[in-house]
Amino acid sequence: MLTRRSMMQGAAGLGGAVAAAAAGSLPNAAWAAAPASGTQAPGFYRYKLGEIEVTVINDGVSRMPVTDGFVSNVPKAQVTAALTDLFMDPNIYAGPYNPIVINTGSKLVLVDTGTGERAFKSNGGINGRLLLGLAAAGIDPAAIDAVIISHYHGDHINGLLRADGTLAFASAEVLVPAPEHKFWMDDGEMSRASKPRVQDGFKNVRRVMSGEVLKRVRTYDWDKEVITGVTAVGTPGHTPGHTSLVLSSAGKQVFVQGDVTHAPFLFARHPGWHFMLDVDPVTAETTRRKVYDMLVSDRMLVQGFHYPFPALGHVEKSGEGYREVLVPWSPVL
Ligand SMILES: [Zn+2]
Repeated sequence: MLTRRSMMQGAAGLGGAVAAAAAGSLPNAAWAAAPASGTQAPGFYRYKLGEIEVTVINDGVSRMPVTDGFVSNVPKAQVTAALTDLFMDPNIYAGPYNPIVINTGSKLVLVDTGTGERAFKSNGGINGRLLLGLAAAGIDPAAIDAVIISHYHGDHINGLLRADGTLAFASAEVLVPAPEHKFWMDDGEMSRASKPRVQDGFKNVRRVMSGEVLKRVRTYDWDKEVITGVTAVGTPGHTPGHTSLVLSSAGKQVFVQGDVTHAPFLFARHPGWHFMLDVDPVTAETTRRKVYDMLVSDRMLVQGFHYPFPALGHVEKSGEGYREVLVPWSPVL
C-alpha cells in the first residue's frame, strides 16, 4: 500500500525519488537553476453564449478575517469549521472577484469593475487586477461602450476610476439599476444608515459616483432589456437595488447573479447564512433561495461575481442548500 510513510521511506523508485527530492539531492547536474517567477498570470477566460462572446476577467480576491459577525446568524466556529472542511485557512475568507466583458457583436460591455487600480496599487496586487486582465485579453478599455453595474458596493464600482481619479473607461456609458442609484444617492437614506459598514458604503458611493462618472450615468429598470440580449432582474437584499442580468442569445442563457451569494462554497451551500455585507439579510436570503431554486429547476448556467475563477457553473441541490459545479476549462470556443 502506498502511504506517505512508505513513500518517504523507500530507497528506490518513487519513494527514493521523493525522498531524494525532499533532501535536495536529486542527481541533476545537467539542469539549470531557474529563478522563481514570483508572480501570478493575469486571469481571463472566454466562452460563447449563442452569438455573444463572454470574457471573464479575474480581478483578484479579498482576504477578510473571519470575525464574530462575519456571518451574523451563526457562531464563528461554524464558519471556521466549514472553511476547514474545504481545506481553506479557517481564519481567512478569500472571496474571489470576477467581472465579465460581453461582446454582443455590436457592443462591448463590461459588467462590474472590481476594486480598481487604486486598490491594486495599495494592496500588492491581490485585487484591482481588472486592467491587467483586460490587457492580457487584448481588450482596450477605451473600446468599452458601456459598463453595467449590478450594485453600488466598492468591489463593483471602484474600478470605474483609475488610481489618479480619471475615468478607467473613457468612452463608456455607465448603466446603473434605478432603485440602487436612488437608494445610495438619497441623503435621507444616508443619514439614517446605522451600520458603520453601510455608512462607509455611502461615503464610497458619493466619491465614485460623482464628476465625470456621474455625467455618464444612465439608470435602467428591472424586467427590461438593458442592452439587446441583456435583461435586468431585480434581486434585492444584498443591497436594496441589487440587480442580476440574464444574457440570452440564440436560445442559450446565463444568469449573471452579481452577489445573490457571495462565494458559493460558503453561501450557496448555506443559503440561510446571513453575510455581514448584506444590507437586508432577510430579503437577501429570500432572494437567494428563489434564484437558486430557479437555477436548479431550469438547469441554468450561472456566472457568479464571487465564484472561483472562471466563475461559471451550474448548481444542484445539496444538503441544506446548494452546491456549485464549475465548468471545466475549454481550450476552444
Ligand atoms: Zn460584491
